Amino acid sequence: MSEFATKIKEFEGQILTPTTWGPDAVNTPMIRHWVETMGDTNPIYLDDEAARATGRDGAVAPALMAQVWIMRTFTDKMANNDPSQVWTDMIAAFDEAGFSSVVATDSDFEFFAELRAGDRVSVTETIEAISEEKTTGLGTGHFVTTLKTYCNGDDEVVATQRWRTLRFAPKPKKADVGLRPRPALNHDNAFWFEAAKEHRLVIQRCTACGVLRHPTGPMCGECQSLEWDTVDASGRGTVYSFVVNHHPKIPGFEYPLIVATIELDEGTRLIANMTGITPDEVEIGMPVELDWIDADPDLTLPAFRPAAREEH
Ligand code: ZN
Repeated sequence: MSEFATKIKEFEGQILTPTTWGPDAVNTPMIRHWVETMGDTNPIYLDDEAARATGRDGAVAPALMAQVWIMRTFTDKMANNDPSQVWTDMIAAFDEAGFSSVVATDSDFEFFAELRAGDRVSVTETIEAISEEKTTGLGTGHFVTTLKTYCNGDDEVVATQRWRTLRFAPKPKKADVGLRPRPALNHDNAFWFEAAKEHRLVIQRCTACGVLRHPTGPMCGECQSLEWDTVDASGRGTVYSFVVNHHPKIPGFEYPLIVATIELDEGTRLIANMTGITPDEVEIGMPVELDWIDADPDLTLPAFRPAAREEH
């Protein structure tokens, strides 16, 4: 283990928040507001009889409300909002060692007992674990897991909540070679950029309800289906809105740079640059047609130029 790893490991097990009791006991009015907001219609939260029918002694609080019961009041939060000294020291140690970036990786909530109106809830937060040095796609760093333990008035553990972050050293930036920045490709958008490389402008379509969507995403906003395919866009549309970018000048772009929101005839909108036109000629509502910017061997993007057709 490196010298730093040994040093940072010393934070393991340290207390971030000593046991703190929630300001109010578990109570029906807050449960009522919460289930209404969440749209949770399970009757066991408000109806004693319905809860007894499930073998409980009476109505119980929704498990996920554990966090609600220990939320500090606004006044308390404003008056005492400094992070704990342990946390401040740990972050300073990470920063000093060059692990200055952070990304949240996962959260894990476990429930062990149910709460009922009248129960008091406390929370204690500790640094549960700090991993050895790991190399990830983002860079090299350490995973930090904090643990919140929620207890009731009998000191019985009601729930635990683990929150993991990666403290890492950002990778050195590649030398500026004058290329346009790369899009952040992922499982949900790569198909769109792959099609663009073939000079095909595609639109994602929900195969359950047929609605078209852009930007790309895993789920239909209309019917929540995860099934989708694509259709080829006609390439015709109009300028919905635009800005002209003068500054700051980013390598790979020519300035002034027209950045337009194009409304396709199919109804979806996308952000694209415009070609074959100067900034003072662009007008909202003007018909446009598809063009392509082959920026470099790895990047092709749709652009739009004034339409040759007549608008009717
Ligand atoms: Zn749908």
